[in-house]
Amino acid sequence: MDPQSLHVKRKIFKAGEQIFAEGDIRDHAYILEEGSVDIIRALNGKGETRVATLNAGDLFGEMALMEPGLRSATAIAKNKCIAFIISSSVLEDRLQGLDPVVTSLFSMLIERYRFSRIEKDHNDEIMGRVMGDAGKAFHSPNAALSQFASRKTDALKELALEQEIRRALDNCDFKPYLQPIVSLTDQKIIGFETLIRWHHKTRGVIMPDDFIPIAERMNLIQAIDRKMLEMACDIIPKMHKAVEGADKPFISVNLSGVNFEDNSMVMGIGEVLKNANVDPKHIKLEITESAFIGNADNAAKILDGLKELGVSIALDDFGVGYSSLGYLHRFAIDGIKIDKSFTHRARDNKKGMDIVAAIIGLAKTFDLGVIAEGIETQDDMDKLTQIGCVEGQGYLFSKPLTVDEALKTLH
Ligand code: C2E
Ligand code: CA
Ligand code: CA
Repeated sequence: MDPQSLHVKRKIFKAGEQIFAEGDIRDHAYILEEGSVDIIRALNGKGETRVATLNAGDLFGEMALMEPGLRSATAIAKNKCIAFIISSSVLEDRLQGLDPVVTSLFSMLIERYRFSRIEKDHNDEIMGRVMGDAGKAFHSPNAALSQFASRKTDALKELALEQEIRRALDNCDFKPYLQPIVSLTDQKIIGFETLIRWHHKTRGVIMPDDFIPIAERMNLIQAIDRKMLEMACDIIPKMHKAVEGADKPFISVNLSGVNFEDNSMVMGIGEVLKNANVDPKHIKLEITESAFIGNADNAAKILDGLKELGVSIALDDFGVGYSSLGYLHRFAIDGIKIDKSFTHRARDNKKGMDIVAAIIGLAKTFDLGVIAEGIETQDDMDKLTQIGCVEGQGYLFSKPLTVDEALKTLH
């Protein structure tokens, strides 16, 4: 589809100009930005009547978004008007990516509205004239509405999943897996990243990408992340018992950006650490830049609060999002994690490698630690060490392990 057709356009109408006429083919709705519009209907050959006067912010001609057909009224600009033109392709495009529950509720409301409008039109004499060819299409809603219908199933699935996630939290079906993070110089384990797995009763192990985005939309991620932190705190003493000497491994826990919408998050994390009686210096929190989007000042304050607790903070997926130099000095972070997509890009072209080298140089300038993710081959590792990366994780060293397996690696 021509991307231009997805841009909402504006149109100016002069005072007295007809915007559309009764009986015209309807193909878009309008939102009035400025001015007033009279909506007029014919009175069965006996003149006409004004049915409404609309003002800035009002929507009109909206039946065009619901189904093809003919305009059942005339719209005339009372004075100079500016209106946004909303076509059904614009609506369809905007609906993509919306929460399916919201779309589905919206669709049910629209369906009701559509039928009540059709019923009303049936009772109007004007229907006699509209029921020509276009009338045949009256029971075939347009593409935007069909999309609603298909999303209804998604919405039901998502609502069911929400219930399941709540139950899984109560039943402790979320398990931490631990992936070793190693020093690239001697390949000794310096820490572990906690990665969640859902042990589902019937569906087996569900990976985070299949439920974390939903848990984020449902505001359930905060409880999940807290649970993971609690479990990580439980593992630390066991891990430290297994390691002799002073270099005790850290555990890092992923914190969704959604947590940053709530200022009491710092207190909550403080509580978990206190109850578990662990030294916060062994805990690293991995956050992504999504935490900074929205209210960056507030995010900076939250990060300061977390730092005060004594935990360390890593900026996860570095390079993927809006990575800006601004973040690096503005926020209290201790290190960055280079996303696996960058590690992999460094494989086959010099440009990719230069980018990773630049990221590492940048981190060093800001005195930040660097962990490279996704190291899968000896060659990946050689390249990274060559450009000054000293810590990493990836399948070359180990996949994420169960807690028992992880503890065994330390003996
Ligand atoms: P992430 O934080 O970037 O985690 C790294 C992901 O890369 C993990 O996927 C890990 O299993 C995978 N990985 C590790 N080594 C390699 C490798 O050598 N090659 C490749 N191709 N992949 C590797 P996983 O476990 O599926 O987690 C996906 C994402 O889910 C994580 O990405 C993280 O954003 C999120 N996540 C996981 N656990 C949690 C959690 O407890 N809370 C929150 N909020 N998010 C979590
Ligand atoms: Ca991570
Ligand atoms: Ca990552």
